[in-house]
Amino acid sequence: MSTFLENTQKIVEDTVKIIPDLPNSDVLSRLKKPDRILEFEIEFQGDDGTVKKFPAWRVQWNNTLGPYKGGVRFHQDSSKDEVMALALLMTIKNAVVGLPYGGAKGAVRVDPRSLSQRELKLLSREYVRKIFEYIGPDKDVPAPDVGTSPEIMDWMVDEYSILAGHWEPAAFTGKSVEKGGSRGRDIATGFGGFIILREFLKFRNSKLEIRNSPPKVAIQGFGNVGANFAKIVHQNGLKIVALSDSKGAIYNPDGLDVEELLKIQKERGVLNNTKCSLEEAAGGKCKTISNEELLELGVDILVPAALENQITENNAGTIRANVVLELANGPTTEEADRILERRGIEVIPDILANSGGVAGSYFEWLQSKEQKWWDEETVLKKIEEVMNGAFVDVKKTKEELNLSWRKAAYVMATKRVAEAMKKAA
Ligand code: NAD
Repeated sequence: MSTFLENTQKIVEDTVKIIPDLPNSDVLSRLKKPDRILEFEIEFQGDDGTVKKFPAWRVQWNNTLGPYKGGVRFHQDSSKDEVMALALLMTIKNAVVGLPYGGAKGAVRVDPRSLSQRELKLLSREYVRKIFEYIGPDKDVPAPDVGTSPEIMDWMVDEYSILAGHWEPAAFTGKSVEKGGSRGRDIATGFGGFIILREFLKFRNSKLEIRNSPPKVAIQGFGNVGANFAKIVHQNGLKIVALSDSKGAIYNPDGLDVEELLKIQKERGVLNNTKCSLEEAAGGKCKTISNEELLELGVDILVPAALENQITENNAGTIRANVVLELANGPTTEEADRILERRGIEVIPDILANSGGVAGSYFEWLQSKEQKWWDEETVLKKIEEVMNGAFVDVKKTKEELNLSWRKAAYVMATKRVAEAMKKAA
C-alpha cells in the first residue's frame, strides 16, 4: 500500500498530465516538494519532574497564492511524511476554494490526552517558540486540527504576541471568540461539508439512486468536524444511523439522536473533566459495532471524519454507500479511490468537502487583521458563498473534462497555482 504522501504526490503528478493547456510547465517541479521543512524536538519539564521530549514539525509546502496556511495536529502517530502530505493537500485545497493562501501543516507526535493541562500549555507555547521566526499573519498562519483546540490556539497566539512584542491575533486562526476568534469558526468545517453535500444532492437529484428518504448517513469520527457536521445534518432532516469515535461505533437503523448524545457528552465532560465516548453516551440504548463495520454499512452517504487511510484496497470492495463525503483529510487511498470509481461510488474529495474550515479561518484572519467582529450569521453566509462557488467551479471542470470529483478539483487547483506562477515569473 502506498503511503499518504506518495498517494497525494501521485495525484498531483497525474493531474499535471491531464491538464490540456498547462499555463506553466514548471508547476510540477514546484508542487512536488515543499519549500521548507522545520523539524525539531519539544522539551519541557513534566509534572513528575522528568524532562519530556516530543518530535515536532512545520512543513511549508508552497506559497504561490499567498501566506502558508494549515493546521497543527497533536497526535501519537504523527510523522514527517504525514505532515508533508497534509501540507501539500492544504496547498491544493486553498487553490480549489480560491483563497489567497498557500499550504502548510504542523504536528507534534504526542497523545494530548496523556498530558496535564499545564503540560499541554507548555508544549503549545514551546511549539510556537520553535517556529516563531517562520510564521506570522503574512507568512504562515497555523490553525487547529486533530487534537488541538481553540484553547490551544489561544495559548499559541499569546506566546506569539509575547515574542513579537505586540498583540497579534491574525497570527493564528481557530482561536476562542473571547480571545479574538471568529463566530462560526468552530462549526465551519462541518457546516461547509453540509453545504457541499446539499449542492451535490441537488445536482444529482434525478440521477443518483438514493435508497432511503430521508437519506441515511454514517459518520466516522465525532470530534470538531464529525460532531458539528452530524448536528447540522440532523437538524436538516437527514437520518444519522451510525457514529463512531476512537473507542468504537454506535448504530441504530431508525436514527440516532445527535443532539442528545452531544448533551450527555457535554454534561459528563463538565462533571469529570474528560470526554465520554459515544458508547458511554448512548448508555446501552443502541447497538455497538466496530469502526470497520461502520464503514461497510448499507447507507446512502458515508462520511469519514476522523483520520487518513481509512478506506483502503482492503475494504473498498465492501463499501455499500452510494456516496463518500470526505470530511477527514486523505481518508481514501489511491488504490481504494480507483476501486470506488470502478464500482460507481461517487467520492466528494477532502479538498472540496472539508474546505469550510479554511474558509472560516480566512474570515477569522480578515476580522483579526482589521479588528472587526462579525456575527455568526454573517460569517456562515460568507462561508456558504465560498463553498457554493467552489462546488460550481469543480462541477464545471468535471463536466467539461469528464473527470471524477477528485480529479476535477485537482485540475482546477493546479491550473490556478500554475497561472499565478506564470504571472509572477
Ligand atoms: P478531532 O481531534 O476534533 O476529532 C477526531 C475524531 O476522530 C475524534 O472523535 C476521535 O475519537 C475520532 N477518531 C480517531 N481515530 C479514530 C478511528 N480510528 N476511528 C474512528 N474515529 C476515530 O479532529 P477534527 O478537527 O474533527 O479533525 C478530523 C479530520 O478532519 C482530520 O482528518 C482533520 O485533518 C480534518 N479536518 C479538520 C478541520 C478542522 O477545522 N478541525 C478542517 C479540515 C479538515
